[in-house]
Amino acid sequence: MLSLGGGTQSTVLALLADQEVLGPKPDIAIFADTDWEPEAVYQNITWLRDKLSYPVVTVTNGRSLRDDVISGTNTSGAPWLTIPVWLSDLDGNPAGVNWRQCTSNYKVAPIQREVRRRLGLAHRSPVPATTLVEMWLGITTDESERMRTAQEPWIVNRYPLIDANMSRDDCIDWFNAEYPTRNLPRSACIGCPFHSDDAWIAIRNTDPDAYAEAIMIDTMLRNDGHNAARMFRKQAFLHHRRLPLSVAVERSEKDRQEATHWSNECVGLCGI
Ligand code: SF4
Repeated sequence: MLSLGGGTQSTVLALLADQEVLGPKPDIAIFADTDWEPEAVYQNITWLRDKLSYPVVTVTNGRSLRDDVISGTNTSGAPWLTIPVWLSDLDGNPAGVNWRQCTSNYKVAPIQREVRRRLGLAHRSPVPATTLVEMWLGITTDESERMRTAQEPWIVNRYPLIDANMSRDDCIDWFNAEYPTRNLPRSACIGCPFHSDDAWIAIRNTDPDAYAEAIMIDTMLRNDGHNAARMFRKQAFLHHRRLPLSVAVERSEKDRQEATHWSNECVGLCGI
């Protein structure tokens, strides 16, 4: 199977896989929908579904990450925040990052559930020792530190873009040559705290509705009535500068930091 995030690298991976230049094509591509992706990603998934000769299926955990962040709840509906917000104490000093559970709850679990279902396995029944699922992930050479051994013994992760020595820029060049009239979207939840300065500026400049929503949610996190403010007794921010989002993005324009935060997303499913 191919893990399809709907962004640059996984789109190129899916298209190259279909041409079988990376080996035999996967049986299926799975897109785990958090319900918080930009509209361009959903449009890209629809385009790929028509384009690819193997099936593209969408899975969810039955909840909306966007709604859960707004209401300050986890996948059980209990008060919690699963995204890795940046925290500061009430004096404004950095105070860590919230424990990230969103990727495993809204992406890993639904994908594994779908794979098990297709293997004909009942919920929580053991996977036979003879079963091995190869999972293709769109990590490129510039993010090779995100490669991991799968935690499940019945899954083996494969990184065909690394094997092909392709960087993110190589993916963009290949795509532009093949599909000169199309744009590749950035995948990742609209309000993901791992966005780089460049990613936040791009959201502001290209998707004003999404940016306005992110500002609304960022402000909400610090309202006394929100579960995040009650639970942490700290201030929570979507932006790594630990400033209100619009202020942080303006600051970023003057003082851009090249660093991305995807190395913190060790499963390798987000932002590809
Ligand atoms: S993109 Fe960000 S917010 Fe969305 S699931 Fe991944 S780490 Fe969490």
